[in-house]
Amino acid sequence: LTRQLSSTGFTKHDAYIDGKWIPADNGDRFKVTNPATGEVISHVPNMGEIEATRAIERAGEAFQTWRKYTGKERSSILYKWHSLIVEHHMELARLLTTENGKPLSDATTETLYGASFLEWFSGEARRMYGDVIPTPAANKRILAIKQPIGVASLICPWNFPVAMVTRKAGAALAAGCSIVIKPAEDTPLCSLALTELAEEAGVPPGVLNVVTCSRENAPSVGKVMCEHPLVGAVSFTGSTDVGKILLEQSAKGVKKCSMELGGNAAFIVFNSAKVDKAVAAAVASKFRCSGQTCVCTNRILVQDGVYEEFVAKFTNAVEALAMGNGLDEGINLGPVINQRAVEKVERLVNDAVSKGSMVKTGGKRHKKGGNFYEATVLTNINETMEISREEIFGPVAPIIRFQTEEEAVRVANSTSYGLAGYFFTEDMSQLWRVAEKLEVGMIGINDGLITASTVEAPLGGVKQSGLGREGSKYGVDEFTELKYLCIGGI
Ligand code: ADP
Repeated sequence: LTRQLSSTGFTKHDAYIDGKWIPADNGDRFKVTNPATGEVISHVPNMGEIEATRAIERAGEAFQTWRKYTGKERSSILYKWHSLIVEHHMELARLLTTENGKPLSDATTETLYGASFLEWFSGEARRMYGDVIPTPAANKRILAIKQPIGVASLICPWNFPVAMVTRKAGAALAAGCSIVIKPAEDTPLCSLALTELAEEAGVPPGVLNVVTCSRENAPSVGKVMCEHPLVGAVSFTGSTDVGKILLEQSAKGVKKCSMELGGNAAFIVFNSAKVDKAVAAAVASKFRCSGQTCVCTNRILVQDGVYEEFVAKFTNAVEALAMGNGLDEGINLGPVINQRAVEKVERLVNDAVSKGSMVKTGGKRHKKGGNFYEATVLTNINETMEISREEIFGPVAPIIRFQTEEEAVRVANSTSYGLAGYFFTEDMSQLWRVAEKLEVGMIGINDGLITASTVEAPLGGVKQSGLGREGSKYGVDEFTELKYLCIGGI
């Protein structure tokens, strides 16, 4: 254990099944590294199909008692878990930065955001209302009740190693499901730390399980998590490619799936926009987590009349961002998560430049080396470039110039993704027109941060960006079944 890690106060390096901290059956472990320094910070169990199956079976047993807890009982455990995260949020934030690389201030925000999902769903646990429905037959009554769906498989990403876990776990546990969490291989330690707190909060053995595994084992663990008969729901956040594999596997057993997949968000700045506000919002939405959130701006579309002004101010703002180790003071941008991510960003930028794009700033690996890539602004982007179609997931902002509203909407929608979109306008009728035409699940209108700390809002995408909604009053629906009761002979 390095000094860095033990300073966080969290010490768990094993997986968690049926209330026990355990290694893999064969003792195999995989490395977790700090993306800012390359330092190995832990070795966690490299589990496989056998341990995943066992975790699901134990969760299946625990489900039978957990589902009988009253909403109020589940609520108070979730609330306790929330309070413990809040109490330890600074330590958790340090751990998050250490394994994910995002600046400590962002990590701190995330831990509190993560905790807030548990606070929210602790309330929802008490509000699992059904319906009393008017009947067409005088001697009958109709009811619809909500019931938990069974064991929920939660396959989580590395970009929000706390908040994506609590967002899924909070909803599933509130609904009365037991859960098996598979954290991303880059960031398993936050899940283990959260579990340590869940245990302390009184989540009973078997109700919450964590199966850690390497990238190599993810397909076989994922397959069991989708196909096991005890699994009722699969909730995934990650890439569209992996989401499609999981959907295919889940189809065999007709599992309920909620998928938050990739995005290709357009950020549109219309002529009437307040340019300074648009610049600040575009920087925030593009560079949060070094461009590695699924709702991050992927393409910036700027109308002719404000183009020159926007590009100049935006480039200046990007050049002012400080890149470095997220644990250091005053850092705005951390590294990207791993070498695979650096290579992807490099490939997209080189492809764009080879097809005529201009580099306004950045455009290459950072002199710090490792996983650092310079904050980059590209102009002269056209639709033949891969960067205009693929999710970048890195600190690169491609800017496209447009003339008319129709053109902006067409370009924004010309993607198979449909997660988030943003636009800036002071024209009220344009606001409604564009909001209704954009093919996305979430829109920031004169706002660049739509998901931060907003547990009340329904989060999710359309088209190939996903299925279902997380957070909000709709979030628990992904983990429940609606049962119709017809009472006759009245
Ligand atoms: P990224 O490429 O950014 O790592 P992924 O979608 O590949 O995004 O990863 C998100 C999550 O999906 C991680 O927990 C990862 O381990 C998991 N994963 C990757 N491939 C598979 C798979 N074939 N089956 C199940 N889970 C997978």
